[in-house]
Amino acid sequence: MKSNEALDLERYLRQTTLPELGIEGQAALLASKVLVVGLGGLGAPVATYLAAAGVGELGLCDGDKVELSNLHRQVLFNEADLGTSKVDAAATNILAKNSKIKLKKESRFLSSENVFELLAGFDLVVDCTDSLEARYLINDTCLALGIPFVYGALHKFQGQCSVFAPGGPCFRCYMPAFASVPTCQMTGVLGVLPGLVGCAQATAVLQLLLGRSSPLVGVMQFFDLLTFDFYKIAIPRQADCICRAFDNDAKSVPLKSSHLESMPVRSISVQKLHEQLQKPDLTLLDVRELAEFRTMRFKNAVHLPLSQLSISKSSIETALALSNQESKSESKSESKLGSVVVYCRSGQRSIQAVRILQASGVENVVNLDGGIMEWHRSFQGEGLDSDFDAID
Ligand SMILES: [Zn+2]
Repeated sequence: MKSNEALDLERYLRQTTLPELGIEGQAALLASKVLVVGLGGLGAPVATYLAAAGVGELGLCDGDKVELSNLHRQVLFNEADLGTSKVDAAATNILAKNSKIKLKKESRFLSSENVFELLAGFDLVVDCTDSLEARYLINDTCLALGIPFVYGALHKFQGQCSVFAPGGPCFRCYMPAFASVPTCQMTGVLGVLPGLVGCAQATAVLQLLLGRSSPLVGVMQFFDLLTFDFYKIAIPRQADCICRAFDNDAKSVPLKSSHLESMPVRSISVQKLHEQLQKPDLTLLDVRELAEFRTMRFKNAVHLPLSQLSISKSSIETALALSNQESKSESKSESKLGSVVVYCRSGQRSIQAVRILQASGVENVVNLDGGIMEWHRSFQGEGLDSDFDAID
């Protein structure tokens, strides 16, 4: 009977034999945490190969169920999985292949509300979605977290793959405008194409986890299945892109997401805020979505939704500077309260916002405990404003 350790050595033997990988490389893979967003045609080979290669922890994120029309390209699933959540089916099939790795299951779609929570804690993200909106969310959040993401995309017979890493061009450098891109559902896709692009993505992930720089940083690799032309184009870094705001982070030690996650957050109670609300150097920052902001907010609050907050340090500073012009005080207060109080509905989203602000170098930021709802419970409409009826 072989020991578990011996079995694992045997399991990875064909790759640890490669001098470029070796036992040390295998240890690095086993210690890595990778999030796969989207378990469709791209996510299937990515998750399968990363699990087989022994990436220690895989996050699986998708809100969909397995359908019959998925099976021609989503090779992770079988007929028996029809109607099952993709995350559950993927987890079962992946663990059947490698029961030694850890899985983190997230049966939901990525959104501006949950993107930070979902991505934080991972070393790297693989974008296997077919949604441009999700790509911008992943791009912006990875910039804020200081982690790379591996991009893959499909269109009819053509695929693309790239690596967007701190310090290099980002996805917005490549595609700055919010263009409309058709999905596989709308245009159709040959089943082998996501297999090819997904394998390229998995390769880039392994290179990054092994501490090598990927040849796909700053480069878009194209795969054309009709002509068999595989070619690259350089992605120039745009001078005015939001990724420039994160350059300082990138040049120093990259900010590990686990670092951001454990970053302590100072908070303030609604009672304390009530005492200090009239201080002239106080900025109230509302990080909820526009509809929530319009319904009920603090008077003179600055609005910057969490979904956009992760985008840019410069936009944060601009927004705060604009608000401070209105209530400029010559002598800075010696108050213990930070100059920026961040709030949301109940105080959860705002914790994430405070961490992003702190990581972006904004000082004196505190979180409002319990959010605006807690304030409303204690002080009703006092100090609040609305675009609609009077608040009572
Ligand atoms: Zn950029």
